[in-house]
Amino acid sequence: MKRIYMDYAATTPVHPEVVKAMTPYFTEKFGNASTIYSFGREAKAAIEESRDIFAKSIGADISEIVFTSGGTESDNFAIIGVAYANKKKGNHIITCKIEHHAVLETCHYLEKEGFKITYLPVDKDGIVNPEDVKKAITKETVLITIMFANNEIGVIEPVKEIGKIARENGVFFHTDAVQAFGILPIDVDDLNIDLLSISSHKIYGPKGVGGIFIKKGVKMVSFVHGGEQERKRRAGTENVSGIVGLGKAIEIAMKEMPKESKILTVLRDKLIKGIMEKISDVRLNGHPANRLPGNVNLSIKYIEGESMILNLDMEGICASTGSACTSGSLEPSHVLLALGLSHEVAHGSLRFSLGKYTSEKDIEKAITSLSKIVDRLRKLSPLYKKDK
Ligand code: PLP
Repeated sequence: MKRIYMDYAATTPVHPEVVKAMTPYFTEKFGNASTIYSFGREAKAAIEESRDIFAKSIGADISEIVFTSGGTESDNFAIIGVAYANKKKGNHIITCKIEHHAVLETCHYLEKEGFKITYLPVDKDGIVNPEDVKKAITKETVLITIMFANNEIGVIEPVKEIGKIARENGVFFHTDAVQAFGILPIDVDDLNIDLLSISSHKIYGPKGVGGIFIKKGVKMVSFVHGGEQERKRRAGTENVSGIVGLGKAIEIAMKEMPKESKILTVLRDKLIKGIMEKISDVRLNGHPANRLPGNVNLSIKYIEGESMILNLDMEGICASTGSACTSGSLEPSHVLLALGLSHEVAHGSLRFSLGKYTSEKDIEKAITSLSKIVDRLRKLSPLYKKDK
């Protein structure tokens, strides 16, 4: 059976050109970038080339880029780094309720350390109101951290307006761009961004590598101490092959972005329309238009997301649910609850995230399979029988 992958927001396959670019750095070009002989210089040059590619892709300077182990570390670094370095100015941070756990858990940690965190609400479509951000700023505020695009419902936040408010109030602005980078154009100057997190494995690069943009002048402390790598901002022998892979992945993403986002938007809308036409009692979660080109998040009433995922998997289709996390928690997604969904409706949600290798045929197959599965499961659902 052909497997159909529709979970590109979770991770992506590594692009063949990325694998090709990385391979020599495992074998003949294996040097430690901190050494001064030719092997080391070769590794160092490759790292700097990737740094240049990343910097140019967001309109930053090469000195403003630090490589990390991924989106989670970049988020931790940005938030903890700014919080600790600016403690004298204040101890207040503003974020929102639908952030990724990499941001939310970092904020929870800082709360235990004595920081005050404001978790802003979102509207029914998942959008943060910039006016709420403005109102939440106090004399103690040192950082605003609002994501670029949400990983579950794909909504794109008003980053430019929020960045402007931050700048006007002398507060640093961080954005978790893990889901947006490589898919949407980003210019850090134009968008008033001070810190930005990215991850390689969401853009057809390898896992375990990412990066952070830190605008010149942002007061930060480092929390990985040791050698002098990354200009003392993040110690540890560099993941050279990973960084080379990330650079190549960025290069490809920037080239293919305009064409790819058009194709994905068409496929996304076809999937939404097809499901809405074939299945009753379906709700699209997240703003209908202001969302990532490949994101479809739906609540299908009267059935559990998990049952749909397992049944889709039996048909070779890999999607994901926003209703409970993989740890087995029975709590529905904090993102869906923040939109105002009831526990019951949030439990019946499903996320399809489309990418480079999704075809029209895959979309058609997903629509037919899902409608058959929903029919079958609803016949077994006591709630459905009661209502109908
Ligand atoms: N932030 C967002 C919005 C994400 O979607 C993810 C990954 O799912 C992360 C952060 C964490 O990135 P990583 O897996 O590279 O640690």
